[in-house]
Amino acid sequence: MIRVMKFGGGCLRDGRSIAQACAIIAAQKKAVVVVSAVSGVTELLLGAIVQAKRHEKNIPPILAALAAKHFGVIAELCPNGPVKRRLQAAIASQISQVERLLTGIACHRDLTPAVRARLLSHGERLAARLLAGVMESLETESAAMDAHRAGICTDDNCENASIDRERTRKAMRAKVAPLLRRDIVPVIPGFFGRGPGGGITLLGRNGSDYSAAAVAYALGAERLEVWKDVDGFMSADPSRVPTARRLERLSFAEAAELSYFGAKILHPRTVEPLAGTKIRVFVRNMKDPAGAGSEIVAAPPSRGPEVAGIAANTRLAIIRVHGAGIGSRPGLLANVSSLLAAGGINIHSVLTSQTCINLLLDPADARRGLIKVKAAANGVIRKVELEERLALVGVVGERIMEKEGIYARIFSAVAREKINVEMAAAGASPVACYFLVRCTDLDRAVRAVHDEFFP
Ligand code: ASP
Ligand code: MG
Repeated sequence: MIRVMKFGGGCLRDGRSIAQACAIIAAQKKAVVVVSAVSGVTELLLGAIVQAKRHEKNIPPILAALAAKHFGVIAELCPNGPVKRRLQAAIASQISQVERLLTGIACHRDLTPAVRARLLSHGERLAARLLAGVMESLETESAAMDAHRAGICTDDNCENASIDRERTRKAMRAKVAPLLRRDIVPVIPGFFGRGPGGGITLLGRNGSDYSAAAVAYALGAERLEVWKDVDGFMSADPSRVPTARRLERLSFAEAAELSYFGAKILHPRTVEPLAGTKIRVFVRNMKDPAGAGSEIVAAPPSRGPEVAGIAANTRLAIIRVHGAGIGSRPGLLANVSSLLAAGGINIHSVLTSQTCINLLLDPADARRGLIKVKAAANGVIRKVELEERLALVGVVGERIMEKEGIYARIFSAVAREKINVEMAAAGASPVACYFLVRCTDLDRAVRAVHDEFFP
């Protein structure tokens, strides 16, 4: 039975947590490990781009920080000897590749998306080497691979690639399966793969979960375990709702929608490569390895609560396009969305009416989006504005559309709190609806809906 075990940055913080991860892996047979970068490393590399563009002299402190994070763990966990020396050399060589890339960026004062992708991939590549090396020192045979060489194949979108699961399956079987037959634990970096032209492509922030699912598909694994530093999927974010409870079981669609609408636990695309398979998916807590975690199942359980969980998202901005008769102009929405698509801007959701189009976006994209739409405004578009004071509440459950009165209960609960709903969309997915409230009302709104369905 092949088991793919994914460890996120939160599980790879320091010597102690990395030793814990190694112990969990060593207790399994036929494990394949997928890792994120060590906690904080992707942010460090993102900052490094900004610093390197400013001046070459900013590079050494960044390399020193990278070295401290990784060599510190080696010093703590690995006994002296040839395995330790090999690991130190592997990490040093990886860091010198980072140095070369940053020096190039400093010279050009700029970088292409392909170089950016290559640079950011080093976070995960360092983590894979580190974890495999530590396991070797603890006497579990292990080998770090590079995701593009291990065979994660994607389309050619450098920053937000989609995995081609069939090409990945072919490539990966040839490269990874032989290690498993020799009882070696392969450690594969998440977050990136190889595009059709051979260049490195990124899978989007937090994309390692998505990588892990593709690996599970490619190897015909029986289980995918996503290890975290929390209990599993919760009915709501416990920092907003202290009475939130762990979800024992939820469907692929519920997991995808909860993640899409703001639950930070899993990348929303994780379940995509698993469609049509019988691979069992678990989210488990590294601090409580005996705990059950949450199981994500392909088919929705035939009975269960109407609402599985409530997600909240404050990272949201709205571009509001006003104009008379906007809703009756063929092609207008297509024009606006293709303008945004051309700028690489993803639209989370759209609500339209006769006089207004509302586009929900990531705040990081919104200002750029606003400029693009404003520049293209013609006689029909009268005004374009940016709204940044709203937050989203997503209510997710396989049965929310099945029974009358669920929406009434959601909105009555919010109304009882005297909170105004600024916008709402129901039925956008068969398992989810969302509404927007002012950011200042968000916590109360989430609690109100949670209390209604989880009394
Ligand atoms: N390290 C990448 C990120 O922080 C990918 C991941 O964590 O899954 O976005
Ligand atoms: Mg991360």
